[in-house]
Amino acid sequence: MIYDLGIIGSGPAGYTAAFHAAAKGLNVVVFEKDKVGGVCLNKGCIPTKAILHSAEIYEELKSCESIGIKADNLSFDFSKIIAHKNEVVEKLRKNLELSLKNAKVTLIKAEAKIISAQKIEADGEIFECKEVIIAAGAEPRDFKGMEADGKFILNSDDVLNLETLPKSILIVGSGAIGVEWSRIFAAFGVEVTVVELAENLLPLADIEVSKRIERIFKTKKIKFYKSTGVEKIENEKVYLTNGEILTPERVLVAIGRKACEVTKIDGVTFIGDVCGAVQLAHYASKQAIEQVDGIHFDKTLVPSVIYGNPEIAWVGKREQDLETATYQKSTLLISALGKSHCDNSTEGFIKILSQDDKIVGAHIVSKEASALIQQVLIAIQNKISVSKLKEICFAHPTYSEGIFECLFKL
Ligand SMILES: Cc1cc2nc3c(=O)[nH]c(=O)nc-3n(C[C@H](O)[C@H](O)[C@H](O)COP(=O)(O)OP(=O)(O)OC[C@H]3O[C@@H](n4cnc5c(N)ncnc54)[C@H](O)[C@@H]3O)c2cc1C
Repeated sequence: MIYDLGIIGSGPAGYTAAFHAAAKGLNVVVFEKDKVGGVCLNKGCIPTKAILHSAEIYEELKSCESIGIKADNLSFDFSKIIAHKNEVVEKLRKNLELSLKNAKVTLIKAEAKIISAQKIEADGEIFECKEVIIAAGAEPRDFKGMEADGKFILNSDDVLNLETLPKSILIVGSGAIGVEWSRIFAAFGVEVTVVELAENLLPLADIEVSKRIERIFKTKKIKFYKSTGVEKIENEKVYLTNGEILTPERVLVAIGRKACEVTKIDGVTFIGDVCGAVQLAHYASKQAIEQVDGIHFDKTLVPSVIYGNPEIAWVGKREQDLETATYQKSTLLISALGKSHCDNSTEGFIKILSQDDKIVGAHIVSKEASALIQQVLIAIQNKISVSKLKEICFAHPTYSEGIFECLFKL
């Protein structure tokens, strides 16, 4: 049998391509060497957010007496938190497998090897495909000379399998993974130290967001070093470039992910993390739709979200990108919004940058920032003018009102 489309990898890039191709009536085969759903579902977005949710609830309950809720003898059972995470992942994976089956996508659970632009080998069999997409993803980047051993030095896969919490942890890297795990560990009372090589925490964020994260870390008693690297790790001692020697119980290396190595063959398309560009699940699935349905998307307008309390989200230009340009800036503190006081969640701000009456960037630190950023993104992408946006009626009391307020200060 000759398939219309063969896809290596069943993460967001692979399964989205499979669903969209199958919906067009194509005969699709997907190869997966590990668990269906890829990193996002099994080792990334979903499991971390499930654990983070438990951490957030626990943290909220610790400080809810001021809003009239008494949570005496509050405690947590980490093994149940991990069991809940596993249940969420398994449920979603089963749903995904069933959906692939219902869409009549053939799933081959085996490592696949690309032989030519039309041939894939798996399980000792050759699969002929009119077209091939490689969506093989990425894996944790190891720290040279300090490779993760799953015991003292952990990577983002190992940390999901911790059975008990350490007393202290050193997190190398303050990108999305580093920040989310700092929040999880700190909420459960682990002593957290973050080491960041760049000048600022969350180096890809707008400078004011980075500064705010410092403040949030301080209030949560998360220690951090900036412009500091790890020179070496020896005998469970971490030697920093500033001369200090730290002795945490564990180290989490969160310094990014490297694309899986796959032979490049002319005529074969690569999508998702394997391309090594933007390594986000929604970018991967948009690339899949672009490839299969020809629906293009603006690659400069991809939202970034860091989860936890408060959420952090941004899209478009950062203030440091506009240094030499003329632009308008409007910032509103979340504490100016009635809803934030009702929710006991006043930390953060909304910052909007505009040029020539059009929004060019938004940077939000707030509860619900992940949802708020989409509102601004729709305006940016459709070039809706600030004057036109002022005509929109925003509901009260909401965090969206913050966007509305910002518009009037531009
Ligand atoms: C801790 C963590 C948290 C994250 N949180 C977020 C988040 O909140 N939001 C977000 O947008 N992104 C997040 N990401 C990133 C997100 O997981 C990835 O961007 C996304 O999974 C990429 O999708 P993909 O389909 O390209 O690759 P993957 O999800 O990596 O899937 C690739 C699949 O291909 C399979 N494969 C590889 N080679 C072969 C082969 N030869 N044969 C058969 N199968 C093969 C792999 O086993 C894997 O299952 C997170 C990542 C991590 C690690």
